Amino acid sequence: MLCFGFRIISPRCRSTAIKNYTHGYPETVSILRWAISKEYMKTTRKEMILLLANKEMDAKEISSAVGVGEKEVYVHLSHIARSVKHQRKKLIIKPAECLGCGFVFEKRMRFTSPGRCPICKSEHIRNPMYRIG
Ligand SMILES: [Zn+2]
Repeated sequence: MLCFGFRIISPRCRSTAIKNYTHGYPETVSILRWAISKEYMKTTRKEMILLLANKEMDAKEISSAVGVGEKEVYVHLSHIARSVKHQRKKLIIKPAECLGCGFVFEKRMRFTSPGRCPICKSEHIRNPMYRIG
């Protein structure tokens, strides 16, 4: 079996790495793609953990800081919530808040932002904020 003992520094290195390590065998390409995406995932999460340990951010800010889509950010956040427990840390979520009437979406356990306020129907909602502490 092949050795996956290489590290991916940036997504740009991916295609070159695949070419160098597979010599054109398609089945190896797919295994490598899988291995690389796993490694890449871990790196993105590490980056997010570092960012959130330093400051409070919402999903949009995280998305542009680490260069992944907002939907992907939510997936990573749910994994991070579990993995930081091993370091006796917590993902602290400041719930979304209505900017119209001040209603706080405290009961909402989902990571994503609510669309509109159930009280005043305003759509001006401050996104949930995340931080690790
Ligand atoms: Zn409201």
